Amino acid sequence: MKNRSGTQILLAVLGGFAVACASLPFAVHAANPIITDVFTADPAPLVVGDTVYLYAGQDEAPDDRHPHYVLNRWVCFSTKDMKNWKFEGSPLKPTDFAWSSGEAWASQVIERNGKFYFYAALQHAALRSKAIGVAVSDSPTGPFVDARGSALIENDMTTATRIRYDDIDPTVWIEDNGQAWLFWGNQKCYYAKLKANMTELDGEIHVIPDAQVPNYTEAPWIHKHGKLYYLSYATGFPETISYSTATSLTGPWTPRGLLSEGAFNSNTIHQGIITFKGVDYFFYHTGGMQHNSKLGPGSSHRRATCIDYLHYNSDGTLRRVIHISEGVDGSGRK
Ligand code: CA
Repeated sequence: MKNRSGTQILLAVLGGFAVACASLPFAVHAANPIITDVFTADPAPLVVGDTVYLYAGQDEAPDDRHPHYVLNRWVCFSTKDMKNWKFEGSPLKPTDFAWSSGEAWASQVIERNGKFYFYAALQHAALRSKAIGVAVSDSPTGPFVDARGSALIENDMTTATRIRYDDIDPTVWIEDNGQAWLFWGNQKCYYAKLKANMTELDGEIHVIPDAQVPNYTEAPWIHKHGKLYYLSYATGFPETISYSTATSLTGPWTPRGLLSEGAFNSNTIHQGIITFKGVDYFFYHTGGMQHNSKLGPGSSHRRATCIDYLHYNSDGTLRRVIHISEGVDGSGRK
């Protein structure tokens, strides 16, 4: 038997320690922010089978003092475990719409009959105002192409405010009976039916009364839990997230109060809500990218996607979302 040197013994001990560490049941979390390779604003998640797709605008403001939004494209990521995210590239950019001059603002994607519809807020070149377009693809990762050749929602179609950016932040929902709805708006929350083709409005545009969505700013997101519909939205400025509930998408909506405090180091917060493998998630952005990230520090114009758990009370109301740096591990437990 050969004698072992001190170094060999030390290596053997360290090797055993490494094996022991690897077998310990450490939870793997996708720490917040979940993506640090690019800035990601206005996260919109979509569940397709065993995969979650995340769509976001890519913030490209050159430094944390830059005072304006710079968003030239949307980006897509996917995960099967809520911990490991894969970059899927850019599925769409505003200038893929021939009538747009740019600005990849908040958007949402939904699936219908094997096709994917991308409802996008962007700048209308000729009208010099925000508008909503719809693009379509056979794949959730795109490429998406303009489904109409014109805006679905233009500024003069909604007149409850006089601003030129009230037609932003689309959220889309398809009811069990197949009826699709689009909600959107800044300062006012608008909604309308969509035709089964998903690319045309079906009937007139309505406005939710202010008293049913108190202190509404923007960023509506529709979801359903049990028989109850939830309309969460950004309130005030700097923004927090509140929500209202209803038994019908046409209301009336009952205000339920604050769902989330504002985002760290960002004057906006934009939420997306999904249920995946039986666990409820709350996506949002903050300005919390750290100074030591390769991108440098975050800001209101350099935002980063975070995820925390969403919890329901037994009466259907929502518990306040707690923003934690550890993020989620897919278990649903804090
Ligand atoms: Ca308008």
